[in-house]
Amino acid sequence: MKTFLALAQLFAMIAVGLNHPVSAQRSPKIPNLAGKVQTVWGPIEPSKLGPTLMHEHIFINFKPPTAMLLAPTYVSVLEPQPADPKKRRGLTDFDQSLKAILDFKNIGGGTIVDVSQYGLTRDPLALKLISRVSGLNVVMGSGFYMKSLHPPDMDKLTVEQLTDIIVRDIAVGALGTDIRAGIIGEVGVVGKPLTDNELKSIRASARAARITGAPMSIHNFEPLDEMMKVLDIIESEGVDLHRVVMSHTGGRDVKTMDAIFNRGAYVEWDFMGQAPLPKANDTRVIDSVYAMIQAGHAAQIILSHDVCIQPQLKENGGGGYTYIHEIILPGLKAKGVTDEVIKTIMETNPSRALTFAAPAKPVKQKSKRAG
Ligand SMILES: [Zn+2]
Repeated sequence: MKTFLALAQLFAMIAVGLNHPVSAQRSPKIPNLAGKVQTVWGPIEPSKLGPTLMHEHIFINFKPPTAMLLAPTYVSVLEPQPADPKKRRGLTDFDQSLKAILDFKNIGGGTIVDVSQYGLTRDPLALKLISRVSGLNVVMGSGFYMKSLHPPDMDKLTVEQLTDIIVRDIAVGALGTDIRAGIIGEVGVVGKPLTDNELKSIRASARAARITGAPMSIHNFEPLDEMMKVLDIIESEGVDLHRVVMSHTGGRDVKTMDAIFNRGAYVEWDFMGQAPLPKANDTRVIDSVYAMIQAGHAAQIILSHDVCIQPQLKENGGGGYTYIHEIILPGLKAKGVTDEVIKTIMETNPSRALTFAAPAKPVKQKSKRAG
């Protein structure tokens, strides 16, 4: 399997040769992907997705980015992990990640959405390779992560420039490659309060979603009132909220979840399966998902692991990419949830969320202010 590392490095060299400043490029032609899902190997029919994990990181590195957004540089995420499990950080080893996602393939999994983007060392070439080798569909993210991991030129870029960067990822390809993003996210929002850069990032993400028809996934650490403001901004850019996944919101208080359901967005339970297992938390996840199904919200529920750290991998005692299928879904079934509802949550909702809308013109904004 070390060949794949070598192959990825070779692709990396090719990609670096392709990098050139965004400002020097003309506006891209926007493909009409309406009714399709865009994977790293190109558009596919939503019916081909199968069971889908909407919020994962096949590869991730939490190093603050050094490349300027206006001159994006391909940096491979791949580097061997130390032999000592305690010293391992992020998910940067091709063979380790391949082994981990094959577990999902082997239980009938179809698609993994990798929501790394600018900020989490997204690697389009490694994602394309691992999709081919594993046989899983992989959908790649775009946009900007939490403020602590914003690229160094984030302060001075305008909403228009940020929009253009995301649109190119979807319409042309990311980081000098021709590999295209299929979702805008996870868009990092921490808030308390929402900063200018966060407001620019949210607005640019929404505008790019409008222009390309791409879906969105928001990383939410902000309080409810700010979350509603985020949804207001997205809506003001002409994006239907049923194309928006609100990550990290499942299992919060019922008032927060209800507010999101009422706006039409998806509530996502994620970040689970961290060693040591089993966790008391599992019962809480099962109970809160069950309560929301009983309240009639099955069509807006998303479940994913958000695998992003070593203790979540099976080889380190975690639940890996199959924890939901092995622990959470059986727990829901034991409470009487039907196979039909499970299929809604694991297949129908992701395929609906990931399906592109038709490209549209940006909505004219009254004020130039980001927020
Ligand atoms: Zn997140």
